[in-house]
Amino acid sequence: NRRILLAARPDGEPTPADFTIDTAEVPEPGEGQVLLEILYLSLDPYMRGRMSAAKSYAAPVEIGAVMEGGTVARVVTSRHPDFAEGDIVLSHSGWQSYALSDGTGLRKLDPAAAPVSTALGVLGMPGFTAYAGLLTIGKPKPGETVVVAAASGAVGSAVGQIAKIKGARAVGIAGGPEKCAFVRDELGFDAVVDHRAPDFAEQLKAACPDGIDVYFENVGGAVWEAVFPLLNPYARVPVCGLIAHYNEKAGSNTGRDRLPGTMRDILTKSLTIRGFIQIEFADQRRDFYREAAQWIAEGRLKYKEDVVEGLENAPNAFIDLLRGRNFGKLVVKVA
Ligand code: NDP
Repeated sequence: NRRILLAARPDGEPTPADFTIDTAEVPEPGEGQVLLEILYLSLDPYMRGRMSAAKSYAAPVEIGAVMEGGTVARVVTSRHPDFAEGDIVLSHSGWQSYALSDGTGLRKLDPAAAPVSTALGVLGMPGFTAYAGLLTIGKPKPGETVVVAAASGAVGSAVGQIAKIKGARAVGIAGGPEKCAFVRDELGFDAVVDHRAPDFAEQLKAACPDGIDVYFENVGGAVWEAVFPLLNPYARVPVCGLIAHYNEKAGSNTGRDRLPGTMRDILTKSLTIRGFIQIEFADQRRDFYREAAQWIAEGRLKYKEDVVEGLENAPNAFIDLLRGRNFGKLVVKVA
């Protein structure tokens, strides 16, 4: 069993030395257990938080433990009444090639319904995050302007397309010309702006002539600073992620204190700024699976996967994710 363990807690950007690869015996399932062979491992920005000991909404991975992560797996041996050999399941088995499960949290997947890797992306946690955060907090109305950054990624790509399905105008922010072309031409956003352009803030303003009614926050940092002055009265801001800050060193200070001005605008523009972790909306998952599957079938919800071959390449692929080097939902093909 190949496993990737957390070796050290990074301060700043993770490096390959923060991970170790080891080989252990493939475990034997006991009564009531299944042995899973991992087919796909999802790599997601939240894993940076699990590498850190800082207090958060979930406990960190212990040093020396297998890195946590969502997986699609095949049941190799079953001693559990609900699972048979050959079943394909969604599990949370982490960065390894085999794992045991007692069935808790496993969800059977139908390989005939959709490619099974989509259970980690557009039909999984990231797609659901987009759906629940946008519709429950953002509440886009027809004709409104919805802005989302990391727009070619797993969450952002779905946010903009669902905004369009709801009749809103979708403006994406992405890094570099290739991602921008994809967001506009393939995903069908109404406009897209490259956050690496020197005149990014002016370009964003030009792309949002009626201001911004919903800003789905994935990034923070310079993108947030460009967005904030453009928010309209009564704008809604689902705060989903702040990836521009995940690799900040402990105690780093990014400059002048903007909080008083931010608070003033929250007051005078009656803004709603509301953070969320997707599990909070778990009771909407059934609706999501049904609606998202239909939108995909109708060609209204498209997705792109960035597939990395081999578990041993997971650490570098994860480091690159936090640098914006992925293009689409990042998954590792493990077997
Ligand atoms: P993506 O597939 O979008 O990949 C991350 C992307 O973030 C990169 O490709 C890059 O895109 C962008 N990025 C990275 N660094 C920066 C930076 N410094 N400034 C601007 N953009 C940057 O990842 P996900 O779709 O999986 O996640 C998107 C966000 O959603 C993350 O913040 C994540 O933490 C959050 N999230 C939150 C959940 C919740 O429950 N609250 C659940 C799931 C995800 P580009 O090159 O285009 O800039």
